[in-house]
Amino acid sequence: MNVQINVASGYGEKRARVKIEGFPCELVETLLARTFQLIQENIEVEENYNETHEALSQNVEPSKSSVQDVVSLLPESIRGWYKQKEKEAEEQGVPSFYFTGIKIKNGIPHYKAFYICPNCGLSGRHYVPEDVKEVKCHNCEAPIDIFPAQAQLFKTDQWGNFFRSVMPDKE
Ligand SMILES: [Zn+2]
Repeated sequence: MNVQINVASGYGEKRARVKIEGFPCELVETLLARTFQLIQENIEVEENYNETHEALSQNVEPSKSSVQDVVSLLPESIRGWYKQKEKEAEEQGVPSFYFTGIKIKNGIPHYKAFYICPNCGLSGRHYVPEDVKEVKCHNCEAPIDIFPAQAQLFKTDQWGNFFRSVMPDKE
């Protein structure tokens, strides 16, 4: 049996991945018990035991949260908008974040943020929780301040970004 365990903190700064091939089936429960023991309060396991167990036995990803679950995690002001975008994505047969700019990680909505690195000039995207004020350049790891893309929070700019490294009025 091949086992993979992903651990991440609520904000995704700390991640760990353990991959073991040819792991004896009868030791999985012991392994999981030990893993949970080692996980501190502020760290969440991406999947609970049952889902992990199911995924291991079927060798597939655990099922994604349903649309309704996701919507309940979002600020009320964008729930209707999100449902509409989700529907558009479904019609196009693409992942919903293509249209929504929102990914759910560990039950926390992460919003699309666009940056231009002042250090190396690279531009890129991050998906960040709503209270994150800084991202790191994918290329040179320089810290970059990000700001809401619009005066109204959770309103995207014309490219679907919730946050940007440059204030729109400075461009
Ligand atoms: Zn950079």
